[in-house]
Amino acid sequence: MAAHGIPEEVLRNEELIKELEAVAKDSALLNGVLMRTKESPNSSEVVTYAPFTLFPSPVPTVLFHQALAIATHFNRLIDRVSQNSRFLEEALTSTIKVDNFTAKLFNIYRQVQQEPQDTAIVLGLNRSDYMVDYTDGKEALKQIEINTIAASFGGLSSRTPNVHRHILKVANRLKESKLILDNNPAAGLAKGLAMAWELYGSKRAVVMVLVEDIQRNIYDHRYVENELWARNICVIRRQFEDVSKNGSLDQNKRLFIDGQEIAVVYFRNGYMPQNYRSEQSWEARLMIERSCAAKCPDISTHLVGTKKIQQELARPGVLESFFPDEPETVTRIRATFAGLYSLDMGEEGDHNVDMALAKPDQFVLKPQREGGGNNIYGDEICCVLKGMKNKTERTAYILMDKIKPLPTLNYLCRMGDPLRLNMCLSELGAFGVYVRRGTEMLMNECVGHLLRTKNSEHADGGVASGVAVLDNPLLI
Ligand code: ADP
Ligand code: MG
Ligand code: MG
Repeated sequence: MAAHGIPEEVLRNEELIKELEAVAKDSALLNGVLMRTKESPNSSEVVTYAPFTLFPSPVPTVLFHQALAIATHFNRLIDRVSQNSRFLEEALTSTIKVDNFTAKLFNIYRQVQQEPQDTAIVLGLNRSDYMVDYTDGKEALKQIEINTIAASFGGLSSRTPNVHRHILKVANRLKESKLILDNNPAAGLAKGLAMAWELYGSKRAVVMVLVEDIQRNIYDHRYVENELWARNICVIRRQFEDVSKNGSLDQNKRLFIDGQEIAVVYFRNGYMPQNYRSEQSWEARLMIERSCAAKCPDISTHLVGTKKIQQELARPGVLESFFPDEPETVTRIRATFAGLYSLDMGEEGDHNVDMALAKPDQFVLKPQREGGGNNIYGDEICCVLKGMKNKTERTAYILMDKIKPLPTLNYLCRMGDPLRLNMCLSELGAFGVYVRRGTEMLMNECVGHLLRTKNSEHADGGVASGVAVLDNPLLI
């Protein structure tokens, strides 16, 4: 069974598809749905379209609105968890014993905890991702994860609606074309960055985007950067190496790079171990964290995005402790949680290991990693879990119920790949933005959405990892 979107006779009309393929790729280029090529990831001389679906994919209207409506609650949850050092410490104790990357992040967290800043500006730009689970004939919105660092595609997804509108018009599907929603996360992300910049309070200070050495997805960043330039806020792009060579803190912990004062650091890097190419990168991260610049995210908010925290938040009573006077908020957040299970040493963990070994197809085994391609599925769960069954190594992972969405038919347009009709699965993201100074929440908004779709043969996802492609919801 497949969810309904564009009728199958359209999808199987070979002549039409051929025509649409050419139209679609030109439209993506004309609308600026761009990416640099694998061959020259640091040059804009030759660029290509970012991968996208030929048609928008069906998403149930009610669930779409549920994902957007809940974003402000997740913003508050992330922000509250980030301020609860006891919870973070307890929840991550077992993880940091065995996961070196999380341990290094936590080490920075501990160091900056020693130097609290009362009026710190907190800027959260996150993306909560969901799939529509379909069990026993019922559809439910289930959260995959929350990304609290370097959540991407807010820029390009501001440009994809026009591409699908145009394709549908050429396909003589005017009715569906009119149903494609406007979307502009780039503007909303920039609004948060601009507010943090304003609160910092120095007209001369700039926003620094911390970037990787390989910059294929630069245009996604540029949309956000250009929104800032349009507000006459200067933006610079730097790598960890630049910060270690040319960065410094003055006696008031103001951060300077190449003589420029930094008001806001926007991390589009720093979420994977390989982003820290040397000890100097870690020292640069620490310098940034110690500074009075607004960090997006700060180190505690970064840690809140770990899979381990996601799992600990799903324990009975934990959401209640963060929203003691808001049972309705608790219910709404919890409704989106899939089953999440700890693999900590002890009886509970042992039981969860056995549960996964008995039915590996029902679960996903997740390490504390980002960027796609790291999770373990199916029979491989058994291999990996058997190898570390009674060892503390297992506590680097969490276990999660596998979400089973209805597949839909679509074509994935990706440079160099011939177009083929595939069974596909989609993942919906909601972008959340919040700004807090001291105890005052000054902004808390959902600023847009992202739909990504992948061939259902792939268990894992991610556009940057080459599996998923950009899409738009067609509300049904
Ligand atoms: P990452 O931080 O690497 O993006 P995710 O938790 O988002 O990690 O997992 C990567 C991909 O794996 C997702 O985009 C989704 O396609 C798939 N996935 C993750 N968790 C589940 C799950 N519980 N059920 C089904 N698929 C999942
Ligand atoms: Mg992630
Ligand atoms: Mg993800």
